[in-house]
Amino acid sequence: MSMTFGPQPEENEYGEELGYSGDIVLNWEYWDCLCENYYIFPRSIPGCWRCGVQAEDRLCAREPDVQELRAATEDWEAYLAEQQLRYAQTLGKSEINRNI
Ligand SMILES: [Zn+2]
Repeated sequence: MSMTFGPQPEENEYGEELGYSGDIVLNWEYWDCLCENYYIFPRSIPGCWRCGVQAEDRLCAREPDVQELRAATEDWEAYLAEQQLRYAQTLGKSEINRNI
């Protein structure tokens, strides 16, 4: 392992903006919710379709968590699109539930 003392990278290999909190590397493009099997969402999705946590109430995801999920996900773009769709569907359901 090489030891570098230069400035830390401002973005990862995908061009996503990174931040630092002590030794923790953060990815500003994503946030994580409170689901037991944690879920990572891009900033474009405002809430989790499972636990209902809102992005505005969360900080950003940790870069290692984002990369772990990305590595475990066959088609990252399809995964993101599915999360967006499920969130939209959940919004529709909650509108209906209010009238019950
Ligand atoms: Zn959740």
